Amino acid sequence: MKSIAKIILSLLLSGMALPAMASLKVFTCEPEWAALATELGGERISAYSATTARQDPHHIEARPSLIAKVRNADLLICSGAELETGWLPLLLRQAGNARVMPGQAGFIEAAALVQRLEIPTHVDRSMGDVHAGGNPHVHLDPRNIAIVGRALTQRLIALDPDGASYYQQRQTDFSKRWQQAITRWQQQAAPLKGARVLVHHKDWVYLFNWLGIVTAGTLEPKPGLPTTAGHLVNLKQQLQKSPARMIIHAAYQSDRAAQRLSQLSGMPVVELPYTVGGADKTDDLFGLFDVTLQKLLGAK
Ligand SMILES: [Zn+2]
Repeated sequence: MKSIAKIILSLLLSGMALPAMASLKVFTCEPEWAALATELGGERISAYSATTARQDPHHIEARPSLIAKVRNADLLICSGAELETGWLPLLLRQAGNARVMPGQAGFIEAAALVQRLEIPTHVDRSMGDVHAGGNPHVHLDPRNIAIVGRALTQRLIALDPDGASYYQQRQTDFSKRWQQAITRWQQQAAPLKGARVLVHHKDWVYLFNWLGIVTAGTLEPKPGLPTTAGHLVNLKQQLQKSPARMIIHAAYQSDRAAQRLSQLSGMPVVELPYTVGGADKTDDLFGLFDVTLQKLLGAK
């Protein structure tokens, strides 16, 4: 058996056993876009994500292995709106791959395709690490996933015209299943409407906007800054006046500040996956939203 596996492996490595398809290499900044590319591109693409659900997408290191991935990519998909401003420009510069530069067919900025929330009227340093292009965490509204998915299909067809009917068929199939899931999620989430929820960072504005959840405060005193003891005391006082249902944080964030406020206030802490792979049963985008809603609804 071992030798058969070896032969198969060597065939795979030599490219002989690979179907003529599997042609497009898709580099994504975050796991949600790799999952979407896989839904729509199927066997004709291979998707790679620069970050996992346990990594803070605002801050990663522009490692040489990532530069090599960008150099070989046919298509790049990132959230944009400055989410990756600390590392993506460096990767692009070092990779020197003209096909995936901004403005090219091989570059997709998801946030540029959807209606962005929280676009500041002005930005200055006193505001902390604020995203000047509006909130970049667009994927947690599944309607945005649908919009980005349609654009992605068009790009896949432009870059790999031989696969046009394959991509179109997958788009139709995904879109049908996704719309059905959105309807189901909206029904399930009805009890969350109007709920006040305290968040670590404002990763959740698109999710909350979609479901009618209210942000009751943030553990970060300003975007991107660590919480302080004084800020937690202020939050506790605010919560006494207008209580909230829970404190949430993403799988990529430490729960220390959330646990501290929970001790002060008695509110439950809920860790949400934030993206694909951030919790059990979140191997794809459907699982991501299923689990996110289960966790929000189960908080006590
Ligand atoms: Zn952010």
